[in-house]
Amino acid sequence: MARKPETNIDELGLSATALAVVTERYLCRDSDGRVRESPGQMMDRVAGFVARAEDAYRARTADRWAERFSALLRSREFLPNSPTLMNAGTGSGVLSGCFVLPLEDSLDSIFATLHTTALLHQVGAGTGFAFSHLRPHDDLVHSTGAHASGPLSFITLFDAATQVVRLGGRRRGANIAVLDVHHPDIQEFVHAKSDRTALPTFNLSVGVTEEFMLAATADRPHPLINPRTGRVVQEVSARALMETIAAQAWRTGEPGLLFLDTINRANPLPELGPLEATNPCGEVPLRPYESCNLGSLALPRFLAGDHLDEQRLAQAVRVAVRFLDDVIDVSDYPTPELAAAAGATRKIGLGIMGLAETLAALGLPYDSEMAVRFTRRLMSRIARWGHAASRELAAERGVFPLFDHSRWAAASSAPMRNAQVTSIAPTGTIALLAGTSAGIEPMFALSYTRHLLGRAFVQVEPLFERLATERGLWSPAIAAEIAATGTATHPDLPVDLRRRFVTALEIDPVWHVRMQAAVQRHTDAAVAKTVNLPETADIDQVRNVFQHAWRAGCKGITVYRSGSRPDQVLRPPPPT
Ligand code: UDP
Repeated sequence: MARKPETNIDELGLSATALAVVTERYLCRDSDGRVRESPGQMMDRVAGFVARAEDAYRARTADRWAERFSALLRSREFLPNSPTLMNAGTGSGVLSGCFVLPLEDSLDSIFATLHTTALLHQVGAGTGFAFSHLRPHDDLVHSTGAHASGPLSFITLFDAATQVVRLGGRRRGANIAVLDVHHPDIQEFVHAKSDRTALPTFNLSVGVTEEFMLAATADRPHPLINPRTGRVVQEVSARALMETIAAQAWRTGEPGLLFLDTINRANPLPELGPLEATNPCGEVPLRPYESCNLGSLALPRFLAGDHLDEQRLAQAVRVAVRFLDDVIDVSDYPTPELAAAAGATRKIGLGIMGLAETLAALGLPYDSEMAVRFTRRLMSRIARWGHAASRELAAERGVFPLFDHSRWAAASSAPMRNAQVTSIAPTGTIALLAGTSAGIEPMFALSYTRHLLGRAFVQVEPLFERLATERGLWSPAIAAEIAATGTATHPDLPVDLRRRFVTALEIDPVWHVRMQAAVQRHTDAAVAKTVNLPETADIDQVRNVFQHAWRAGCKGITVYRSGSRPDQVLRPPPPT
């Protein structure tokens, strides 16, 4: 597509925050570090590059699709994950946000994966690993007659390498380490981040089974098994282990849990083997070498008065699925195994962002039956439209190569282009670009200071200010109260306004889990969500959240108790 010169850096009407993020993270620079494109031109670059995939299916259609994709991105109704925005058409072309890499119990496997990890972090992708197959600490190493150093030592190695590679990057490659709850080093793993500065590039998740969850409730023994020999080396109390996990999560926010049986019941390709790990924020369970390119619909852009324009949303879903399917073809993969795995299952992750803002605009308090029901229904439609779009692509381009081995083939004769279509990403950066609330999270606060890229941005929730002004309620007293507390609790505010702007820490954890479960029900992959707890929450509450999430059908769960970690990105404003 021909590039028109654009002098107006702000032709998309971006906020100051969005403009700062785009400039720092996404805009191309010349060799002197000077920005050489506007945000609109960035969208054209991405759209034009991704649309090149179209020509391989039907000659001379790329330009037409480039225009459609560009219009969609420029409207910010849909945005792909950061690596696509940063890397498309720039020469460093890894476009997927998430990868899972193999770790077998050998130095060859571990160091080969460390190498691939460095290549992926260099271009801003996230990596997930199951460390469950590595022999435990102090186990025998036949070749040397010495003792093994165990999974934790290798997690530390990956962390150090990540920190070094990060120094050269625009986006910080993140990691997740998963350890199966049966691994003999599980205690060490659960405590690995007791020192809150340890392993800064890793999230940790314990892979738990239904058997373990039930044993923890019934207070039954739980076997620890050496993965090298398959032998039970010890029996521990499941309840005590759960207690330790909950206590650590209460103290530091880590580890989270992955519900492996729930994940594997929904595994689209069980023949390839079980899913044992996810990408760093948990929204995509993947097999080793698989990747997933994510993209999210900015729901508030589809608001039309007191409802969502579902026709326009369905249309955007259709184009977005096509866009994400094209990304697979034009992305670079640092190794042949990664290219082969992406091509074999063609997993994509279409999700939503701005749910909280949408609910507030529609007058549905996040912590209400109505909001949960609305969201479940909305997600079921998005999933239906997304699957229909994937079927349409299959008719045009063929099914994904392993289709015949998948659950899709078993469940119906409907062909699919993608083994997985939907996933709910955290949208940490792209929601800032879209100017809306992140993923499916509730609003964190109505006014806050965002510490980003070394600068502080003070924000007041614009929708709140607009609605309060329209109703003649915006006063200096209310503005001061919101600045001081970050919440709409001023007694002069009518209850309906207070309720619809309920913030993360005011929401009972039960509603966080219910919302996550409602979305999960209609999501192929998984849902990135943090259950925020107030500082006063106790360990029992954490354990209850874990049990509730498992019973409600979530694929994983993460809690964060206010103030329990020093590196909070969002901080409520200090009292004035
Ligand atoms: N991710 C990463 N580093 C980061 C943020 C994210 O590697 O600093 C990866 C991680 O796998 C995460 C995924 O990107 O699960 C999507 O994160 P998010 O939606 O926040 O990314 P965005 O596209 O908004 O930058």
